[in-house]
Amino acid sequence: MFGLMMHRPLLVSSLIEHADRHHGDTEIVSREANGSIHRSSWGATHQRARQLANALQALGVKPGERVGTLGWNHHRHLEAYYAISGMGAICHTINPRLFPDQIAGIVAHAEDVLLLVDPMFLPLLESIASRIGCVRQIIVMGERPGEATSAFPLLEYEALLKTASSRFDWPELDERSAAVLCYTSGTTGKPKGVLYSHRSTLLHAWAVALPDSLSFSACDVALPVVPLFHANAWGFPYAAALTGAKLVLPGAQLDGASLYALMESERVTLTAGVPTVWNQLMQYLQSEGRKLHYLKRLGVGGAACPKTIIGYFEDVQQITVLPGWGMTETSPVAALTRPKARQSGLKGQERRDWLARSGRALFGVDLEVVDEQGQSVAHDGVTFGHLQVKGHWVCSGYYREEGDPLENGWFPTGDVAVMDADGFMQITDRAKDMIKSGGEWISSIELEQVAASHPAVLEAAVIGMPHPHWGERPCLFAVLRSGEEATPEAVLRYLEQRVAKWWLPDRIEFVEALPHTATGKLNKAALRSERGL
Ligand code: ADP
Repeated sequence: MFGLMMHRPLLVSSLIEHADRHHGDTEIVSREANGSIHRSSWGATHQRARQLANALQALGVKPGERVGTLGWNHHRHLEAYYAISGMGAICHTINPRLFPDQIAGIVAHAEDVLLLVDPMFLPLLESIASRIGCVRQIIVMGERPGEATSAFPLLEYEALLKTASSRFDWPELDERSAAVLCYTSGTTGKPKGVLYSHRSTLLHAWAVALPDSLSFSACDVALPVVPLFHANAWGFPYAAALTGAKLVLPGAQLDGASLYALMESERVTLTAGVPTVWNQLMQYLQSEGRKLHYLKRLGVGGAACPKTIIGYFEDVQQITVLPGWGMTETSPVAALTRPKARQSGLKGQERRDWLARSGRALFGVDLEVVDEQGQSVAHDGVTFGHLQVKGHWVCSGYYREEGDPLENGWFPTGDVAVMDADGFMQITDRAKDMIKSGGEWISSIELEQVAASHPAVLEAAVIGMPHPHWGERPCLFAVLRSGEEATPEAVLRYLEQRVAKWWLPDRIEFVEALPHTATGKLNKAALRSERGL
């Protein structure tokens, strides 16, 4: 017997409809390319999303077709998110920091019929025009550059909206329909397309908004530093609409000074980003002696966050740090380090040690750590194994790729982790980055954490070097803080007091900078190839 409750499909359009009806005058603030502040609202976002949907329909975009976006976090990009998915097309967010070659490959693979782009990315597209013949038109999200001739028919976003009707009835799609397409950043292989459905996107937004998650509310001012092109900006655009939070979109200026100014002037209470941006913000705040007066929660994920950064924001700035784990394939948020009753009273060093965990599973996904035979390892916080994940917002296959990535119904993440008795998981490494020395494993992340806790070290990367006797030995590359001095021997002595002797790097080298990926993570593949390893 079925229940007698209404069956409503879980659709992305329902989020913007709700935000408009119940939080219509709540602000959407966006910093423009020229630095000026643009003020809009959930109501205006809905109206303009409907205008854009009409314009896209008039341009021949059909349900199921891919419309690419290449832009920073701003109000037009947000409107495009809702217009494209809402009308039944697929919003393909493209990372502009990828190499032009990769962008060409991704656009061609996705067969994007139309692109919405920030003016500054037009030259990039012109350079790959011959390889993306699938693109019929480009809509410029801003002013179209004056005299420039283009290989594409160029349309202006505002001109299109001016003549478009704001009446558009969002179609009642099957909730399993595709809504968003995002390619993995290709840190460890070629980029693969992850195709989110309306249902998975909604359930993920709900989970992200919960109190034991990032905790969104109508009283929050949420600023996603994480880009709209990095795995749905970790659900910010959707969770903010679901709860009616004010949204602040920072544009292209993500340096410490610009972020600080925006967070203070807009009274931002909630933010999230990768460790690299928090490292920059921390340096700015330290050097200028500034205090964040309104920020309450700071999400960090995408890579292990150095304990020094967590400690600084928690202890000096009195902000709750929310470390999380996820990947493009998991929408991305799957786990967050939020206390259970046992951890709620932790203070000082104990709390900081606990915050080094990568998180516990949110309802809707499940995590397990397994050995080579696929058997669960002990949940003792020390036995490590392969991390696997399953759930409502975990991918079951890649877009236009043969083969089934799942193993016994679980998605193998490629990460190595431990799990403790309370269900808190901690990533020890990516399987490909673990260092095997004399048959024993060394966690590169743990060594990096210890090295980065040295007062003179700003950032550290550890990679394995082939060794005739031990198989591999760790090698540490470190960037020093500006104005600080240290010698490799001093760093070695520091490590000697903190890690097992056989973990000590065979080589320690100071470098000017370390390579990062398009999503701002340490790029160990690039480091290895730079070093001929
Ligand atoms: P890519 O794999 O191409 O870098 P993703 O952005 O999907 O693209 O990255 C997911 C990966 O990032 C995870 O598999 C994991 O290795 C790493 N990661 C994410 N969160 C954390 C975390 N809290 N601690 C350590 N590593 C993390």
